[in-house]
Amino acid sequence: GTMTYAGSYSRFFLPSFLNSGAEVSDEVVGFGHGGSRAARLDIDSYGSKAARLAAMAHCGLSVPPSIALPISACRKALTEDGEVSVSFQVDISRGVRGLQRTTHQWLGDKDDPLILAVRLSPAHPQGGLGVPVITVGWTEEAIDLLEDENQKEAACRDLAHTLRELSSHIFNVDEFLFDEKLEEAEEEGPVVWRELYPIYREIAVRETEGKIPLSPSEQLILAVRAVWQSWYKPRAQTYRQLYEIGDAGGIGVLIQVNVPWEDADEVSSGWIAIRCDKSGERKVHGEYFLNGEAPAKDLSKMTRKAIVKDLIAQAETWETRSARAERLDFIISDKKAFVIDGTPLSLTTAAEVTFAVEMVEAGAISKEDAVRRINPAKLIDILHASLDRGQEKRLLSTGLAASPGAATGRIVFSASSAEALKSKGWDVILVCSETSPEDIRGMQSSSAIVTSKGGLTSHAAVIARGTGKPCIVSVSGVKFDAEGKRVEIEGRSFAEGDHLTVDGSEGAIYEGKLALSPSEMSGDLSTLLSWADDFRRMKVLTNVESPNDAALAIRFGAEGIGLCRTEHMMFEPQRLSSMRRIIMANDQSIRESEVERLVPLLREDFINLFEVMLDRPVTIRLFDPPLHEFLPKEHADIANLASNLGIDATDLAFNIDELSETNPMLGNRGCRLLICNPELAKTLVQVVFEATIEVSRRHEIDIKPEIMVPLVAMSREFIAISRLIDDAAQTVEHELDFTLHYKVGSMIELPRAAVIAERIAAEADFFSFGTNDLTQTTFGISRDDAVAFLTTYEKLGLMEHDPFVTIDEDGVGAVIELATVRGREANPNLEVGICGEHGGDPDSIHFCENLQLDYVSCSPFRIPIARLAAAQATLDYRDRNRN
Ligand code: PEP
Ligand code: MG
Repeated sequence: GTMTYAGSYSRFFLPSFLNSGAEVSDEVVGFGHGGSRAARLDIDSYGSKAARLAAMAHCGLSVPPSIALPISACRKALTEDGEVSVSFQVDISRGVRGLQRTTHQWLGDKDDPLILAVRLSPAHPQGGLGVPVITVGWTEEAIDLLEDENQKEAACRDLAHTLRELSSHIFNVDEFLFDEKLEEAEEEGPVVWRELYPIYREIAVRETEGKIPLSPSEQLILAVRAVWQSWYKPRAQTYRQLYEIGDAGGIGVLIQVNVPWEDADEVSSGWIAIRCDKSGERKVHGEYFLNGEAPAKDLSKMTRKAIVKDLIAQAETWETRSARAERLDFIISDKKAFVIDGTPLSLTTAAEVTFAVEMVEAGAISKEDAVRRINPAKLIDILHASLDRGQEKRLLSTGLAASPGAATGRIVFSASSAEALKSKGWDVILVCSETSPEDIRGMQSSSAIVTSKGGLTSHAAVIARGTGKPCIVSVSGVKFDAEGKRVEIEGRSFAEGDHLTVDGSEGAIYEGKLALSPSEMSGDLSTLLSWADDFRRMKVLTNVESPNDAALAIRFGAEGIGLCRTEHMMFEPQRLSSMRRIIMANDQSIRESEVERLVPLLREDFINLFEVMLDRPVTIRLFDPPLHEFLPKEHADIANLASNLGIDATDLAFNIDELSETNPMLGNRGCRLLICNPELAKTLVQVVFEATIEVSRRHEIDIKPEIMVPLVAMSREFIAISRLIDDAAQTVEHELDFTLHYKVGSMIELPRAAVIAERIAAEADFFSFGTNDLTQTTFGISRDDAVAFLTTYEKLGLMEHDPFVTIDEDGVGAVIELATVRGREANPNLEVGICGEHGGDPDSIHFCENLQLDYVSCSPFRIPIARLAAAQATLDYRDRNRN
């Protein structure tokens, strides 16, 4: 069957033309320069490298003659004995004969031998599997006949490498036996491969007991096997885990004619790209080599040369045909520029967005494609924080700015402690010499990554960009102590846990904890999101209480407020003390006077909020404080409150003791609190309505508040509070001579409410799933302290995602579905949405679309993510229901 991509990865990264979904083919196929019209290869059958090069040939790029071996052959070999079957060997030699006919060179020939590069072509574009290119075709005889000394050197080096690779990969010879000889030679000066080759050969023959083949055709078969077996390398396994690729797959193999680079003193090989990987704008850059030798030189200085112009033209063709930003590896041979490989540029998210928008403008892709290709979760790094300007900073050191954004956190020295301390709630910054694939999880736990070594395309940088974390590499003046307990940065010493601030956009590291400010949306992101808005069906609302946050959310594209947590409006010290007096006072008159004090303040708050929101919907959730949040805890606070209330501190302490709950999350909160303290609810609702009328009159608009009742379990609770709201509305309407338009809805946060949803829905205008509480109450786990065992669960594979991050579809999701179906049956006009943290999580948003909910509501910073994810969800839903 077809190899499929597990997880959501393929949705975002596979060029559509590479992912043809065609039937899996299992033939050896040839393509490339000099051949006839090139075939299109399907990525599932031949892997990404072969598919890409065949597509390049198809677009008219100069690609060396190549043959592609299907993944199915690898799969067969891996499940059987690891050998290349005789019949498949015949297929390969048929392919090689095709290459011989095209090049007029022959494998094993001594005068003008065909030289082949054997490389892996994994189905997954990022499957870096740890076998280098193996070159076959040189024989000692052919090398002897070479006249040019440089060519001779290069051929000896290639053949020596081939013996080393085949010995180690096929015959399990320790690579060190070769490498120590190389090191010895290097110590004596420039390596002379003509002298080193015989030593390599001797080791290979001795260690393999003469089994190492010296004939190119036999070497070719072993090289294919070496590539196949790399499937089992630990690094390959780590990648498969990381990208959620199943272990069943396999690898395609690409056999490419090794085009010799020109023996010239100009450009001979290198790479070129025509996109800036940071900004996504057009920019020709690259590196080239003279005679294939280091050091690399700057290609952007050579753009007037005809051969480079030709390369730019090829890169442009490829870019508009593939709509992908890639770097092309090339070789100049016989005055012609050959593209030998292409690899995706690792664009920053900002660059991906800019590039996608440009590709739409160039007609290369549709708006829909653009909307689909950006991973919503990655927008975080465009919306990322930067350092507040104008604060005092102490610069410690600088390095290469490898991934943008700013972060502050505590130093950790290893990926494992990053993971451990993150799970305890620390924000951590990983500081180490370099990272490797084994460190992935620790890196994901870190807010930023700092390495003393490495470059802009090294592991740390690539992963950081991919996951949207600030990263600085090659930081100068970094010294780690021997025990790995301290680090010295430019002479200043730090221990694990010390605060550091990192600016990944500038490549600067600062001491201590600095203030960060959020970034604004770029023009291109706004464009992309406006396209997303055209596709998406669900509304995107926000969870805010303050006018400032509301304004920010509107800038990010929120259409209204889906959750205004009124208890959060009480956390300011003055108000908190009023709240405490209301709760603690025995005397009704004290309560009333405190409520009187709060009323104008709250009215002003709602007026300010409505002033920002104007005619957008605003959903106001009635008080839902876990009571303990309002009880004084410190001695001094208790004494203070007691003297304010004119009561004895011991009495008060006793009172507090009585009120405090063992499990405040399941205590007297939500509608329970409102039913026990109806005056609180009434006052709050009156204030909301008064503010509504005030702003409606000011602007001559119709403000439509939606009042939401939290933690409802029984329809009677909801009905009781609804009545109270209606009464309050009538009073205000009467007093102020105004007709209010408001809605009353219920939060669904308890399984019982879901089960009896039809009874609540019959009385309600809308449902809003409080998925935070609903997750905690459905699982029976506390949202405050579940991390300890959830981490273990995730490690053991008992749980795939933290259910507080992504909706647990099987359980919590089923409860949501039940309530939605029953609710809508009883009340076809019922509006349904979610407002828990899940409202900003792309996978959960997909789930909501599948249930055809009406809206999601999330925090301001996740609004752009939600807009994009909701658009993708609509498109996916449409696709699925079309088929
Ligand atoms: C919820 O429970 O999901 C919710 C939105 O309410 P809160 O987080 O305020 O309890
Ligand atoms: Mg809740």
